[in-house]
Amino acid sequence: MTDSWLPPDGVRRTSDVITVSVGMFKGGEFRCPAADALKARGYRPLMSPGRRREPLEHFTFGPFMAACDARNPYHEGAGAQRTRLAKPLHDGLRQWTEHAVSTYDAAFPADPLTEVPAPWVYRYQLPGANPRAAREVRLTVWGRCLRSADGKVRELRLPVNRLHRETPPEEFVAAAALVLAEGTPGPMPERVRIVEFALLDGRVRPLFDGTRQEALTRYREQGPAALTAVLDSQEYRPGTSCGDCLYVSVCPALQKAPGLLGVGMPGRPRRTWSVTNGRNYRDCPARDHMRRLHLPTADAVEHGPTAERGRALHAYLAERHGSAALRPCTADVPDQWVPDGFDLPEDERVLGVRLLRRHVAVCPLRCVRDGADVRNEPRVVRHDSVADVVVIAAPDMLYRDGDSWVWRETKTSAGERRTNRPLLERYPQLALAVQFLARGDLGGAPDRARVELEVLRPGGADLEIIDPFAPAARTSAERILNGLVSEWYRDDNYTAVPGHGCRRCEVARWCSVSLPAEAAV
Ligand code: SF4
Ligand code: SF4
Repeated sequence: MTDSWLPPDGVRRTSDVITVSVGMFKGGEFRCPAADALKARGYRPLMSPGRRREPLEHFTFGPFMAACDARNPYHEGAGAQRTRLAKPLHDGLRQWTEHAVSTYDAAFPADPLTEVPAPWVYRYQLPGANPRAAREVRLTVWGRCLRSADGKVRELRLPVNRLHRETPPEEFVAAAALVLAEGTPGPMPERVRIVEFALLDGRVRPLFDGTRQEALTRYREQGPAALTAVLDSQEYRPGTSCGDCLYVSVCPALQKAPGLLGVGMPGRPRRTWSVTNGRNYRDCPARDHMRRLHLPTADAVEHGPTAERGRALHAYLAERHGSAALRPCTADVPDQWVPDGFDLPEDERVLGVRLLRRHVAVCPLRCVRDGADVRNEPRVVRHDSVADVVVIAAPDMLYRDGDSWVWRETKTSAGERRTNRPLLERYPQLALAVQFLARGDLGGAPDRARVELEVLRPGGADLEIIDPFAPAARTSAERILNGLVSEWYRDDNYTAVPGHGCRRCEVARWCSVSLPAEAAV
């Protein structure tokens, strides 16, 4: 049997050991399967230009893991593996870590288990001739690894910010169970347990609790096919993971857009950027940084009724527009239109019905004849190689008009009042859209390319059209983007700027200089 998997040009194999972190079994939109396969198989780019690293610690769990390592007796011992932190922490990450450590202590007060000096690794030798030409496969786990004094019980505690509704994939749990059941060092256990624990509120969720034999059976049922899928994936998934990906210079899927952001300076660390980041940064650099670290946000702010109505409505439209039938939306909107996973108060639900009916007059599918002409909520990712920034945008829809791309954004409003503020300033994602289309970064013919802004109001829908080739639109777009990007691009410290934004800041809890509500008006 031969290996049909192929690496991209410009990489070389540096090891005959395949090393798979069981986190690779998790998949999800934030992982790139092709990058995982390359990494697991030991490929590295032939040319790797030295990259400047971020001066601050950017691994959200790093300080928590280091704090746990540091207070365990084994940590100076021979063979001990310890999370090393050489970088200073942002105030937000420090506050969050203190909270996380105290939550962990409260969740596991009188611990009968003790930490092991090094996480377990499962190894198996491959036969001499094997399609992947490897000598050995290793599976590794990440998390707090503990065992009982007699070695009969092993437990893996997986830190997460909060418990999500969905549990992690079965294949991930099966692979982790195998590492606990068979991994070294240490005597083989009789029983293995895997739990998730939420650093935000200390909740603990068991994922697996069984005998060693049951763990092996679980892996045999679900693991091998998933391992093959991890190792053989050639699916490149551009997105946030490109920000710290080794393979950017050789990646066949990450398209370049040199000069897109209009900034550039030698020696800057590679980063990702979206208009949402830009807006957050403009409000307060610390807020953007904490959001990028995915520190838990305040539900009351993050899921306020207006924002939640907007998200629910987008989800409803995306589902309609994505249906195989490709029919323009009709006024037949059910009273109970709110998609699963959203919780709207009654007045917002009723308002939503009215807004969705207003959408009918401007539904973009009225202009589309073929499903191949529609990209519903696509992710547009380009590498500005001058700035070394991966730019991520998420238009509500891209559709073709003839050979040209049309970029559609949809907004909702509970009121009828229009302001005189220029559209690109009000909605900077339109400025980015203008740049993408005017520069030809999306391909397609320029003649009908345009940006459309649909604003749904109770009394009707506005459809604004922006010509990306109009000199005034381009000049404004460049100015607006520059205003959002240039300061952030040079910033390494993300200093908090308290002000009226503190009142509606989702991460204020982790900010030591947050203004109290009465002062932040
Ligand atoms: S650059 Fe992005 S798409 Fe390409 S391999 Fe890396 S993570 Fe995947
Ligand atoms: S609470 Fe205020 S100062 Fe702190 S991050 Fe939020 S907006 Fe910035």
